[in-house]
Amino acid sequence: MHLLDKIDGYGRTNPDRLFHVSGDRKMTYGELLAKSNTVAAWLDSQLGDKRCPVAVHGHKEPEMFVSFLAAVKSGRPYVPIDYMTPQQRMERVVEIAGAEVVLTPARVAEIVAASGAVDYRRKPLETNDPFYILFTSGSTGEPKGVMITLGNLNHYLSWMHGDLKFRECGEIFLNHAPFTFDLSVHDIYLALSSGNTIFSLTKDHITNLRALFEALKTCNATQWMTTPSFAQMCMIEKTFNATMMPQVRAFCFCGETLAPETASQLLERFPGVPVWNTYGPTEATVAMTKVGITREIIAQWNPLPIGRVMPGTRVIIRGEDGQAVPPGERGEIVIAGPNVSPGYLKRDDLTAKAFYPYEDTRAYRTGDWGRDRDGMIFCEGRMDSQIKLHGYRIELGDLEANLRALPEIADAVVLPVRKGEVIDSLTTFVVLSGPKHGTDFEQAAKLKTQLAERLPAYMVPRKFHFLDSFPMNNNGKADRKKLAEML
Ligand code: AMP
Repeated sequence: MHLLDKIDGYGRTNPDRLFHVSGDRKMTYGELLAKSNTVAAWLDSQLGDKRCPVAVHGHKEPEMFVSFLAAVKSGRPYVPIDYMTPQQRMERVVEIAGAEVVLTPARVAEIVAASGAVDYRRKPLETNDPFYILFTSGSTGEPKGVMITLGNLNHYLSWMHGDLKFRECGEIFLNHAPFTFDLSVHDIYLALSSGNTIFSLTKDHITNLRALFEALKTCNATQWMTTPSFAQMCMIEKTFNATMMPQVRAFCFCGETLAPETASQLLERFPGVPVWNTYGPTEATVAMTKVGITREIIAQWNPLPIGRVMPGTRVIIRGEDGQAVPPGERGEIVIAGPNVSPGYLKRDDLTAKAFYPYEDTRAYRTGDWGRDRDGMIFCEGRMDSQIKLHGYRIELGDLEANLRALPEIADAVVLPVRKGEVIDSLTTFVVLSGPKHGTDFEQAAKLKTQLAERLPAYMVPRKFHFLDSFPMNNNGKADRKKLAEML
């Protein structure tokens, strides 16, 4: 059955069932059906035949889901933009997307109040039609939009439903990731396609640990997809265990390296609850490899494996010559299959660099180092300057381009600072274009404020070092190795 008809079906058969809970907001499947129909009809009234993307600006309000579904029901992909995104970056995303409408929770409430219930017949949405567009950090300072089709999403959902056997109308998916991050796609569509409930943590929970643990105690979550960084943060609380969250039936990790210590602590604190390590970039729809992490696996491997590939998709470990390397050897992880995105919105240049046709399907070059050991895949870090900081994907080039765009900065280099294996913060070396204003601390504070007008807060580096000039390497570029030695 079509994904959208399935979701609507729960609105008819289980109208009073909650599809979403967040803070003191709750919404039922019945309301989701009625409100998304109303907003879909409103979109048609505003946009006519234009199938341009619809931007959705907000955080974790139930109206976000109403907007997502309204967009796709009306045959238009949606572009989620979190409140954390500064105005300037948001405007750029809206412009690149060509979105003529920006829905917000308040706007949705107004539309629903003004129009009431509408009998809406959804527009056709086929396998190759875009379903959502997620903007991620681009290396030149411009965000890039990854297009994901209905077919991409269906491939992921059928794999997960087949393997993890979620109960119908009996699960609560804990949603920690913002909707701009594709881990949230796991929570949203696995829940909605099985009549289940999404419990969203908001940014208030993330910044207030007392509120976070109170929410974890009361949410009754059964399924939890999260980043290792977030789980590690929860582990600071000694009572974060199966007594606090007795209903949890599975942990899924994705987005960054799962450290053996994190997995081991979880197995201890939640006895008998499976811990899955999954891997995948946004460009290949959430995840495509998966492995249950056991004590035996932890004892055998470091780094831990990222698992075996989903049916219907292939992983090729590619050497510098473009050919597959012999089994067990290191190369670039390339993903080929129906989960691979058609590319970056309006960026044929970037699409041509990262995507290519492969046999009967499409392939995506991840830029991750990896190995295939008898079908078990291992990820061994990045080949470029894309990093993960507290679970967020950041291109250091994006950050540097935005720093250089500030009038007070002549040149900038950003370096990740590691605690053990994990990147803990970012530090910036800056050559100013004029005299320094005040102390280093005052100048850094000023630059951080200016940068926060251009980039989300999680991208703003913690430390700034001011230099008169950068040490140069033989190619005449800033010598990052020498700069790293100064830390
Ligand atoms: P994103 O598009 O934000 O999901 O980031 C994708 C990137 O995160 C991948 O290309 C990897 O570099 C990294 N990543 C995702 N999952 C894992 C994992 N399980 N282990 C190690 N790195 C991962």
